[in-house]
Amino acid sequence: MSSITEVKQRRTPVGNPSAEEDSQDSKLENKKLYDFHELPEWQQDNDKILTGYIRETRSWRKCLRALLIWNNESVNIYTHLVSSISYFLLMVGLTNVVAVPVFPTTTMMDFSVINFYLFGAFGCLMCSSCFHTFKQHSGPHCDAWSKVDYMGIIGLITCSIISLLYYGYFDSKEYFVLFTIVTVLLASACSVCVLHEKFNHKDFRTLRAAFFIAFGFSGIFPVATGVLKFGVAEVAERVQLRFVLWEAFFYISGAVIYGFRIPETVAPGKFDFLGHSHQIFHVLVVVASFLHLRAVMGSYVFKHTHLGGPGWLL
Ligand SMILES: [Zn+2]
Repeated sequence: MSSITEVKQRRTPVGNPSAEEDSQDSKLENKKLYDFHELPEWQQDNDKILTGYIRETRSWRKCLRALLIWNNESVNIYTHLVSSISYFLLMVGLTNVVAVPVFPTTTMMDFSVINFYLFGAFGCLMCSSCFHTFKQHSGPHCDAWSKVDYMGIIGLITCSIISLLYYGYFDSKEYFVLFTIVTVLLASACSVCVLHEKFNHKDFRTLRAAFFIAFGFSGIFPVATGVLKFGVAEVAERVQLRFVLWEAFFYISGAVIYGFRIPETVAPGKFDFLGHSHQIFHVLVVVASFLHLRAVMGSYVFKHTHLGGPGWLL
């Protein structure tokens, strides 16, 4: 070993683990986007999305600043943020002024029911976009926002079912009350599961999806009861069944795509920024929520044009 080599070895911190870690850390610090393997363990959720991650920020401000960086959460955030704001604008006035035709029998209850649904859609989509914005903060924040996200979904399902229960059973108080109580009880049971710590683990991802599908499917019972009571043709018009069936199709397709992580499972890394399962799920949720609004509006019109206007609830 020459003397020059010896000097070099003394100056260069080769084999000094802390110095290597420091330089590694500063390299990581300077990056805007990270790969899956560079993330802390709590952030490693979908190993088929390889790049484009905002790494744990530990700062609200940095989470908000990441809104201006094109990353693998951008589509998730903006699909629901834009649609949430749209539903809010509809709720605070546009629906009442522009989109709802007024009949002589229209009452405040009609506006309240339509706005009740709009509030559910606004709340769910806003909770979702907040979750995707702030989940990068830290593990505990991610868990807390995930619960907010799920509570938003429960709120949307509840508002969806009750809004159509009103138009389906506007002239049958006892059925409306019965199915509303069942819906509220199921929503409460779902909420307990969501808020329970064990349920929040990623191992429960498939079970969570199944649970929410089951809650959504509970809407079948009032429809089936309505078929027995009023007949298929009238139920189809009362709750605008064609839109509700398309809505169910989009929600279920979204949940299946989300559950099986299609398409990134087939081609890992190819859909990191655009086109991965969570983004498809978000788009399908927006489409389905709009179809439900269409169903509620159609039910409102049918009630006032064919069924004689106000019922027991006015
Ligand atoms: Zn989401």
